[in-house]
Amino acid sequence: MPSWQKLLQNAITCPTELLELLHLPASLTEGAAPALAQFKLRVPRGFVAKMRKEDPHDPLLLQVLPLAKELNNPPGFITDPLQESKANPIPGLLHKYQSRVLLTVTSACAINCRYCFRRHFPYQDNNPGIKGWQQACEYIEKDPNINEVILSGGDPLLVNDDYLASLVARIEIIPHIKTLRIHSRMPIVLPERITNDLVSCLQQTRLNTVMVTHSNHPQECDVTLEAALMKLRQANVTLLNQSVLLKGINDSASVLAELSHTLFDMGVMPYYLHLLDKVAGSAHFDVPETTAQSILQTLQQQLPGYLVPKLVKEVAGEKSKVLVESEGQSRELTDRLT
Ligand SMILES: *Cc1c(COP(=O)(O)O)cnc(C)c1O
Ligand code: SF4
Repeated sequence: MPSWQKLLQNAITCPTELLELLHLPASLTEGAAPALAQFKLRVPRGFVAKMRKEDPHDPLLLQVLPLAKELNNPPGFITDPLQESKANPIPGLLHKYQSRVLLTVTSACAINCRYCFRRHFPYQDNNPGIKGWQQACEYIEKDPNINEVILSGGDPLLVNDDYLASLVARIEIIPHIKTLRIHSRMPIVLPERITNDLVSCLQQTRLNTVMVTHSNHPQECDVTLEAALMKLRQANVTLLNQSVLLKGINDSASVLAELSHTLFDMGVMPYYLHLLDKVAGSAHFDVPETTAQSILQTLQQQLPGYLVPKLVKEVAGEKSKVLVESEGQSRELTDRLT
C-alpha cells in the first residue's frame, strides 16, 4: 500500500481533472481561475472516491471545487475575520483561553476547503520549527494555569511521525500539562495518515489524548475511516468531531442527525457545529444564524442530548467561542426576562 506521503503527493490539483473523474463538464469551474490562483485546488484521491459521479451538487465536491461565485464579495466578508494575530505572543503559539494553548504546527493541509480562512494565507507559515517549539514550551512551562496543549494548523498531522513524537515528548515533560488535543481533518480526508507509529505515540504518552476530527457530512465516513478510528480508540484516544455549517452541504437537520449517528457508531462524539467565519470568497456557504438556530432546534428534538453538537461562532475580540442557542432556548430566555 502506498504511504500517506505518496497519497498526498498524488492529490488532485487540477479542477478539470477532478471534474473528468466525476464525469462532470469542465464548465462547472468556468470563470474560477482568479479564485484558483488565490487558493489552489487540493484534494486527495481517496476523498474524491467518496464523491458521487455525475452529481454537480455532491456535498464533498462542493467543499473543494473552485467556483466563479467565490469572486462575488458581499460586504462583511473579509480576509481576516478572526484577527488572531493579537493572541500570538510567540511564533506558533496562540493563547486565548486561560487553561489551554494552541500550537499551529504547520499552515499546510491535506485538502483545501473553499470555506476556510486559510485561503487568504496559504503560504504564510507560522511554524517555528523544532527550535521554535523550545520557546513555545518554555512559555507554557512558566504558566501553571495551562493544562492542555492543542495541536492545530493548518493540519498538524501533515508533519511526519518523528517530528510529532519529538514534539509530544517535549510537551510531556511539562508537569502541569494533562491533555494533548489534536485538531485534524486528515482522518477524514486521508485516513491512511493514522499510522501505527502515530497510534503508538499517542498510546505511550502519559498525557490524556483527544483527537478532534473535522467531518462535515456523513458521506465522508466510510470503512477506511472506521478502521483508522478503531486504532485510535484502542489506543485510548478520546474522539470528538467538529463541523462547519455550510449552505448546500449540511444545512439540514436530517444530514446533521445522520452525521451524529454515523460518527457515534464509529466511537466519535459530536463536539462543535461552527457557524461559518465570514471569509472573503465563502459567502455562498453562509447559513443565516436564524436558520442555524432552527436546525439546532430540530436536532434537539431528533437526537439524544449527547449527540447534539454545540452551535458556536467565533466573534473577533471575544475571549472564547460564543455559544448560539436554538430558537426555543432563546425564546424561553426572553420570556423569563420580560
Ligand atoms: C477554539 C480554540 C481553542 C479551544 O477551545 P475549546 O473551546 O476548548 O475547544 C483554543 N485556542 C484557540 C485559539 C481556539 O480558537
Ligand atoms: S484548516 Fe481545515 S477547513 Fe481549512 S483547509 Fe485545512 S482542513 Fe480545510
